[in-house]
Amino acid sequence: MTRVYHIVQFDSGDAYLTFDGCTWNCYYCVWRMSRWNICLPQEVKQKLEALWNSKSIEFLSVDDIVRILVKNNVKKAFFGGGEPTLDPEIKAIIRALKMKDIDVWIITNGEHLDDELVSMAKGITFSIKALDKKLHFRVTGVSNERVLDNFRKYAKSGKIVAETVYDGKYIKCPEIARIARFISSLNKEMSFRIDPVVQGVNLEDLDRCIEEVRKILPTTYRWKINSPRKFPKLLYPQIGD
Ligand code: SF4
Repeated sequence: MTRVYHIVQFDSGDAYLTFDGCTWNCYYCVWRMSRWNICLPQEVKQKLEALWNSKSIEFLSVDDIVRILVKNNVKKAFFGGGEPTLDPEIKAIIRALKMKDIDVWIITNGEHLDDELVSMAKGITFSIKALDKKLHFRVTGVSNERVLDNFRKYAKSGKIVAETVYDGKYIKCPEIARIARFISSLNKEMSFRIDPVVQGVNLEDLDRCIEEVRKILPTTYRWKINSPRKFPKLLYPQIGD
């Protein structure tokens, strides 16, 4: 059995698979706030939570995942969570999906990446929460040593998009600039996405920061959603009306 317990599909046709479990403790973690996709309507998330609490939701097998994605004509699947690389079945899932021409994009803290996973994935969003050791420990509760080693190792793989979270509290512009310099020293072409912390932050400050950081790494950006988003389709688990 895998650690996948939730799948949604976006308007683009891409699916997002949620994996259970993470050994880190980032204070701003979206998944720790809600185990359900953040884009779902509140009432759907409440129904799912009730199902979870009644222990009615089963983890999916590799075959289940393939069946659900093929049935919904998915061509690209994002693996997130939670930390997807902790699932011992992750490679079996990717292998099975590749057989059906479904690409996989892994969203990860990078700690457990290995050569095989990097070669199997279509792409990887690799989150560097902080470069400074103390800041990293403060934000996540763990060391960033392995993360940075892996980032150095795979920076030129052509698969990586770097990401970090700006919280305006611990991770402010000087730390974002430090991360950008680190990325730039390894691969000047790499995209660097900065997400505002989900609890809220001054976006004007963040945009000013992004302008500054672009002088170091011109590929730095953040997502801006201008039009109202459609709710994703719930593929698993199913809920009654
Ligand atoms: S590494 Fe990701 S999933 Fe794990 S606690 Fe941090 S934000 Fe959450």
